[in-house]
Amino acid sequence: MKAAIIGYGKSGAAAENLLKLKGINNIDIFDDKAEQYKNISEYKNNYDMVVVSPGIDLKKYPNISGNITSEIELAYEVMDKNAKIIAITGTNGKSTTTHLTAQILNSAGIKAAACGNIGYPFAKAVLDKDIKVFVIELSSFQIELLKNFNAVSGCIINVTQDHLDRYGTMEKYYEAKLMLLNFIDKNGVFITNTDEKIRHAAEKHNIEIKYIDDDLKVFPKYDGKILDFGKFKADTSKYKLFGKHNLINLSFALLLADKVCDFKGDVSNLLEDLTSMPHRTELAAEVNGVKWINDSKATNVDSVYTALKSVEKPSILLIGGRDKKSDYSPLAELINKNISKICYFGEAADLIKKQLSPLLKGVEEESYDSLKNCVKILAGKTQPGTTVLLSPACTSFDEFKSYEDRGVKFKEYVLEYTK
Ligand code: ADP
Repeated sequence: MKAAIIGYGKSGAAAENLLKLKGINNIDIFDDKAEQYKNISEYKNNYDMVVVSPGIDLKKYPNISGNITSEIELAYEVMDKNAKIIAITGTNGKSTTTHLTAQILNSAGIKAAACGNIGYPFAKAVLDKDIKVFVIELSSFQIELLKNFNAVSGCIINVTQDHLDRYGTMEKYYEAKLMLLNFIDKNGVFITNTDEKIRHAAEKHNIEIKYIDDDLKVFPKYDGKILDFGKFKADTSKYKLFGKHNLINLSFALLLADKVCDFKGDVSNLLEDLTSMPHRTELAAEVNGVKWINDSKATNVDSVYTALKSVEKPSILLIGGRDKKSDYSPLAELINKNISKICYFGEAADLIKKQLSPLLKGVEEESYDSLKNCVKILAGKTQPGTTVLLSPACTSFDEFKSYEDRGVKFKEYVLEYTK
């Protein structure tokens, strides 16, 4: 048995380990980024199995053919079939929903692991034989490589514009996401939003479907406090995640977990200790009546747009970093509505100001050379009752190593300067 691994990232390495555990040691690795491996263009079809990484666009490599599989499928083959799979995809909210679902299951006494695209390969998680439910975040690229996979519950949280560099059109992007429907168990449940295109495709499959509306007025019903799903309900007063989108993510997580747990009555206790993924509209600190929100993961305009919907005046937006040639103007309307002061910081400060300033009405504007100085000054003068939202719309590389590093430093600055 001879195998090839094409694309050697985290999931490729986890796949290699699984192959070795299966006794397959004759493995060639192809990766263009590291010198010690063969170039992908050198690949020739003389392998029994080809493990393709989701990062590899097969359209760009017509030379890749043969018995193509993926890290997710390899892990699925070795998974104890008494364990269950919950599959999560969507353009935005995947990691948060995956993280929430696994936490809810664990609180309900069912040992679960959050894995997949979230940064912990399924092929690693599957080695823990105590896990009863694998909650797997799947990118559209991972879905395209599925073959036999089977989930008891699955969801598409939303589909909005993304990855057009790889798919070319929205139609093709939808197609890839909708392929998940082929891998939901016939006794399983599929949960999605009220997007017509998804509804249309889902209703062709003979599976149970549940729709969550963006306003949370129809299902579940939300009255500002209680999320009511009919057979079960939850008081959200102690739920710490910020913004409407996180109530939507919570609704998806509860319904996905419900397929395994069969919730009845009041499940509010499951919400009390739920934590968010770091750096996604995360409450970094609340000091002297000021809420500091870390949304450092928001490295594009669309994510900032979502974050802006979840704040109201008086709020301060911190925006900046390294520009990705973005058009910031779509943010102006929500900034005028929900933001009282905007602080531009870092390398892109002038550029963003130039675009936004002419469109703003009644919004105070300040510019800072760095995020550090921005937090330092704001910490000394911000009034109680204000929310300060770091949602940069830019990469972090002008000042930091990564968005994670920017988020961690932001929290440090807040704690240091609000002392
Ligand atoms: P993903 O894993 O799909 O990238 P994350 O859970 O990491 O999603 O969230 C990334 C960003 O996407 C968040 O900071 C937030 O701005 C936005 N977001 C999260 N959930 C939703 C949602 N349900 N709808 C729209 N935007 C969302």
